[in-house]
Amino acid sequence: MKPLFALPCFGDGSTSRTCRLLLTSLFFLVAAGELVFAQDEEEKFRKLREEMVRTQIASERWTGSDAVRDPGVLDSLRKTLRHRFVPAELVPYAYDDGPLPVGYGQTISQPYIVAKMTELLEPKAEHRVLEIGTGSGYQAAVLSPLVAQVYTIEIIEPLGNAARQRLAALGYKNIEVRVGDGYFGWPEKAPFDGIIVTAAANHVPPPLIEQLKPGGRMVIPVGNPFQPQMLVLVAKGSKGPRDIQVRNLMPVAFVPLTGGPKSN
Ligand code: SAH
Repeated sequence: MKPLFALPCFGDGSTSRTCRLLLTSLFFLVAAGELVFAQDEEEKFRKLREEMVRTQIASERWTGSDAVRDPGVLDSLRKTLRHRFVPAELVPYAYDDGPLPVGYGQTISQPYIVAKMTELLEPKAEHRVLEIGTGSGYQAAVLSPLVAQVYTIEIIEPLGNAARQRLAALGYKNIEVRVGDGYFGWPEKAPFDGIIVTAAANHVPPPLIEQLKPGGRMVIPVGNPFQPQMLVLVAKGSKGPRDIQVRNLMPVAFVPLTGGPKSN
C-alpha cells in the first residue's frame, strides 16, 4: 500500500535537500521559541520574588510583626526559586503570602516566617547549621548561601528523598539531608552554631540544646499540636549547661514535631 503522505526528505535530489533544510530550520525555530518562553517564565518568577520580598518580608506587616532587615537574608529570599519547591499544581501560588501543602499532610512555611527564622539565627559564613523538618527543602536552600554547611533531617522518608534530589538538581552543594527522627538531633555532626526547628513540639528537645555550641542560637516553635504556638529563641551561653536564655518571640502555627522518646 502507498503511504498517504510522505515527506520528500529522503534521497539526494535538490527537493530532498530543501526539505531537510526546512525541517532543520523548523526544529531550531521551535527550540529558540521554547528558550525564549523559559526565559520569560524565569523573569516572571524573578519579579514575583522581588515583589514578595518588598511587600511581605522587608516591610512591616499588617499583623504588626517586625520586618526582616538582614540584607543577606533578603538577598537569599530573592534568589531562591521557591516555585521549584512546591507541587506543580501550586506553582502559580508559590510567591503568595502563606504556607502551601507539599504532600503527606506537611507544608512549606510562609515566606515571611522562613525569612524571620533565618534572620533570628544570625547566620554567619563559617556556621554549621542543623534544621529539623526538611519538608520541601526550601528553608535549607534559603540558609545555604548564608552559612558553610546545612544539615537537615526529615522524618517522612519520601519527603526527605525528594528534597535531597531537588536540592542536588538545583545545584546546592552544602546541604546534607538525612531521613530520621530530628528530635534526637544529629550527634555525629554536632555541635552546631545554629539549630532551626520547623515543626512544633510541646518542649524544646534536650538533645538539641546539648548539640548547640556555647554562644549558639536555636529557633523553635513551642506549643501543643493544633493549639497556639510560640516561636522561641534559645540562646546558649558559655558558662556551662545551665547557661540558657529563652525568649518568646511571636505566635506561629506549625505542623507538629512527631517522633521523640515516646515513639521509640
Ligand atoms: N522546612 C520545611 C517545612 C517544614 S514542615 C520547608 O522549608 O519546606 C515540617 C516538617 O517537619 C515536615 O516535613 C515533617 O514531616 C517534619 N517533621 C516532623 N517531625 C519531625 C521529626 N521528629 N524529625 C524530622 N522531621 C520531622
